[in-house]
Amino acid sequence: MKTILVTGGAGYIGSHTLIELDKAGYRPVVVDNLINSSIESIKRVEQITGRQIPFYKLDLRDAAALECVMEKYNFYACIHFAGLKAVGESVQKPLEYYNNNMTSTFVLLEQLKKHNCKNIIFSSSATVYGIPEEVPITEELPKGQCTNPYGKTKSMLEEVLIDLQNADKEWNVVLLRYFNPIGAHPSGDIGENPNGIPNNLMPYITQVAVGKREKLGIFGNDYDTPDGTGVRDYIHVVDLARGHVAALSAMERNCGLAIYNLGTGCGYSVLDVVKTFEKVNGIAVPYTIMPRRAGDIAACYSNPQKAKVELGWSAEFGLEEMCRDSWNWQKKNPEGYNTGE
Ligand code: NAD
Ligand code: UDP
Repeated sequence: MKTILVTGGAGYIGSHTLIELDKAGYRPVVVDNLINSSIESIKRVEQITGRQIPFYKLDLRDAAALECVMEKYNFYACIHFAGLKAVGESVQKPLEYYNNNMTSTFVLLEQLKKHNCKNIIFSSSATVYGIPEEVPITEELPKGQCTNPYGKTKSMLEEVLIDLQNADKEWNVVLLRYFNPIGAHPSGDIGENPNGIPNNLMPYITQVAVGKREKLGIFGNDYDTPDGTGVRDYIHVVDLARGHVAALSAMERNCGLAIYNLGTGCGYSVLDVVKTFEKVNGIAVPYTIMPRRAGDIAACYSNPQKAKVELGWSAEFGLEEMCRDSWNWQKKNPEGYNTGE
């Protein structure tokens, strides 16, 4: 049984990936400093899988602490989710973002190299395309200018990993560019748990639906899109999690450097999401039209063919399931992982 180091495994995408790794017969080991997550997510994953997940609370920048974990296991690969991810906050706190996301990855890579684990999957983002030259976006499109420190860390870390793989062909590096993950495990026991006022669309919608916020603000209805609101490629987090398992199998074939979009290929507008959420869940989501949000683009969706052809992976869930599962999680856990215990 192959053991996988999962950094940031207590977070939203990481916790869902633990379940899919377990299902596929891998043994995940988690390191996370819990800066944006709760140990409760790991407990819930243990309930769902019926298996204990080794967990180490540490900051990846702490090389000595990471080394202790590296020495304990013989890792086959690392899935590197850990990082700070709030776009707006990264503009306010650039040093924190550069330090956390860059330094933690450098320390991690040194440790992986030292312990001869040269297989890594990196959580990148569609944000590296900047304002895309065209949609749907293929991996061949050139990267664009990122307007915020968060996006820049993703783009720079991609370059770091590409240089590393160029210098030493023993590395297998898979860069996964996620589009817009939403949804939750169908059990409703794990899901996205944002701190404070949500920045992203779906957690805002579910908080309006549950009565925590009065109404959704839709950022602009004058874009050049079918209904004027922004278009994105929403992907169910369980599908995204399965994409990581598929990427691990590519490593078994010594893929070298590989870059994949993980999206559905379908673009939905903000109003499509609101209307689908209302229809599927039978709940009204009041909204108001607001000015455009700085830095937003009109439309961003993937061409997911490369992952389909090379990894045999494609998204299975549609927007209705995403809306159903997001609501199921929020309804069952109105305070997220803050159980009040
Ligand atoms: P998340 O915040 O839920 O998970 C990230 C985890 O990393 C958290 O549990 C946090 O505590 C941990 N972490 C942060 N810094 C750390 C450090 N220095 N040491 C140890 N642990 C640390 O985020 P997520 O939504 O699960 O995203 C996972 C990855 O995917 C991130 O790298 C994110 O940038 C990337 N990504 C996310 C999205 C999205 O919309 N959610 C889109 C594209 C890319
Ligand atoms: N959006 C919105 N109101 C919100 C949050 C987001 O209208 O409260 C819109 C946003 O302008 C974009 C889409 O929803 O068109 C997705 O935004 P999100 O922040 O979830 O993802 P990203 O901007 O990273 O694609």
